[in-house]
Amino acid sequence: MKPDLSKLGVWLLILALGALNAAVASPAKVDGKRIINANHEPGNWMSTGRTYDEQRFSPLNKINVDNVKDLGLAWAYKLDVDRGVEATPIIVDGVMYTTGAFSMVYALDARSGKLLWKYDPKVKRDTDKKGCCDVVNRGVAVWKGRVYVGVFDGRLVALDAATGKPSWSVDTVIDHHRSTTITGAPRIVKGKVIIGNGGAELGMRGYLSAYDSESGKLLWRFFTVPGDPKLPPENAAMAMARKTWFGDRWWNEGGGGGGTPWDSMAYDPELDLLYVGTGNGSMWNRQVRSEGHGDNLFLSSIIALRPDSGEYVWHYQTTPGDTWDYTATQSIVLADLEIGGKLRKVLMQAPKNSFFYVLDRATGELLSAEKFVPSTWATHVDMKTGRPVETPEADWPKNGPALISPGPIGAHNWQPMSFSPLTGLVYLPAQHTAGFYDPDNKAKWKEGQWNLGMKPFAFPESSADVKTAASSYTGELIAWNPVTNKAVWSHPYPVIWNGGTLSTAGNLVFQGTAQGQVVAYRADTGEQVWQSEANTGVMAGPVTFEVDGKQYVTFMAGWGGSFAVTLGGLAQNAKVQSEARILTFKLGGKATLPPRKPVPVLPSGDLPPFTADAATLDHGRQVFNSNCGACHGLSALGGGVIPDLRYLSPDKHKIFNGIVGGIYVERGMPGFGGILNAADVEAVHQYIIRRTQDLVADIEHDKAGNAAPVPAQ
Ligand code: CA
Repeated sequence: MKPDLSKLGVWLLILALGALNAAVASPAKVDGKRIINANHEPGNWMSTGRTYDEQRFSPLNKINVDNVKDLGLAWAYKLDVDRGVEATPIIVDGVMYTTGAFSMVYALDARSGKLLWKYDPKVKRDTDKKGCCDVVNRGVAVWKGRVYVGVFDGRLVALDAATGKPSWSVDTVIDHHRSTTITGAPRIVKGKVIIGNGGAELGMRGYLSAYDSESGKLLWRFFTVPGDPKLPPENAAMAMARKTWFGDRWWNEGGGGGGTPWDSMAYDPELDLLYVGTGNGSMWNRQVRSEGHGDNLFLSSIIALRPDSGEYVWHYQTTPGDTWDYTATQSIVLADLEIGGKLRKVLMQAPKNSFFYVLDRATGELLSAEKFVPSTWATHVDMKTGRPVETPEADWPKNGPALISPGPIGAHNWQPMSFSPLTGLVYLPAQHTAGFYDPDNKAKWKEGQWNLGMKPFAFPESSADVKTAASSYTGELIAWNPVTNKAVWSHPYPVIWNGGTLSTAGNLVFQGTAQGQVVAYRADTGEQVWQSEANTGVMAGPVTFEVDGKQYVTFMAGWGGSFAVTLGGLAQNAKVQSEARILTFKLGGKATLPPRKPVPVLPSGDLPPFTADAATLDHGRQVFNSNCGACHGLSALGGGVIPDLRYLSPDKHKIFNGIVGGIYVERGMPGFGGILNAADVEAVHQYIIRRTQDLVADIEHDKAGNAAPVPAQ
């Protein structure tokens, strides 16, 4: 029979589609062996940090210093909710799995950005009040044909990787009266899905849980701080920890202790150790929490556990007796480094507290701890004791209010750092911050609210003071040599909250910026070699992968997270709004981004009159900063993520009480009916009207070209 050559193209197309369908029909077939051998298939990015050592280094080099100038947008995919985006995408066999705000999961063709399926866990929108730091999610894990997501409301859900349909779902929350949330990406080790939680600002006891990846059965749980002092400790680790806590206020009125392991983990298959970083104390104020003394294990610590049992092996506490919100939840990166002529298996971390730690990861022995940015809370780490030497002003619960650096936002936050074995450098998204700590030593835990043991945040209001504060909050990408403990190069940024980093064998470091760009630097020298628009602040750690012989780089873009929603007024120079997108680049990419979302404009029409006396205004300020400022920005300065209330329309002002009462719950505005009384709401409303007038005056003043800004009051 004579072949019909005219149909050959169709046949080839069918064969090609068949191959694609076959890949999609049994997707995400990842197991421990594949992750351990990830360097044999560098085109895939199969676990959060690519490899279990979480180096976020890719051996791919088709995109390199010589051709990176030709990198262009291959595709962009708009996510559903314009809130903070912090996810690291997973890419397996040409399919990308990633997440957006409210823990929504997306599976896409990694070459084209075409959506394959989407899973919306339907998180109740007012659950955002239960978290400290926006409704973010840091991504999924994949294992043997399933995709696993930790949901903001505390669920852990396993999805069929082919369809996005749930296979199982469990509630990881022990006590729903405590504001427990999940924002971190699960890690999967030996068939166990490991997940922690957040919520220490609102009061809870931290724990890490392991679930069977097949059935969802709880296999073990490791508490990071002791529980009810009237009950015996659960295990030897909790008995050891209990001796470092004093009194019982931390349990009965202090919020539950904290120590939430909300982000970083790493795994060493040879040592069979799982590493996890823990968060700050609850409350922050150690006078309230523990009578002002004690190390309060295992707050702000790196803990090594057996992944099969959750059994404790060793710990290193970066910030004993934490009272500054200095979490040790920042990236944990494993590497083998030659130190003092000896090859050491090390663990590296640059937590919020400004010290870069290098530990022996078999034993927890401290090898070095040097400041990567200046700070005032401690002079140095004593290498004999392994403990930081605090300055007198650092003890604000005892010695009174103080401005201390770093502040609660940290010298490095969750934005992941990367390590290149080729340069031997760690690429660290660092920042210069400070915080004013003012004790309330009589504080008692209140359900559903921030519980810090501090007076309500005081924050500047006049535009001159805000500008001064903003100018002291600057970012810095540091290329850090963890052997010599020195910065080899660094790149300054005018604002903080820049993105995580990716380093590659193309001698490149990729990073997004708070000002809405994506950038590449030479890994060895720091020379900037590429830049492109992202429209919005980019915080997440980028990834790179290869499909059909072509290398791609993906940035998850979307401004938000704790700094943006609470203190975003300090990034006003960045002028970004939250626009949530997946941006994927390739050499010669020609796709275009739509223009940036416009910045809000002042509404026309009459606003309600400002009638408050000084006492009411002051009350409104306090109520606002205690209840509204964590999302709408302290001092009502907005932040580009959640509505800036100074731009409320006259129509919204008319229904202000209803909005505060809960009529916009479905839009994500929680009801405050049980928390604020009528006088509180009226005072807050007057405060917002006053802040709107301040803004109008500032704008008029700028228009008039006056040099000195108008003070707010
Ligand atoms: Ca915290």
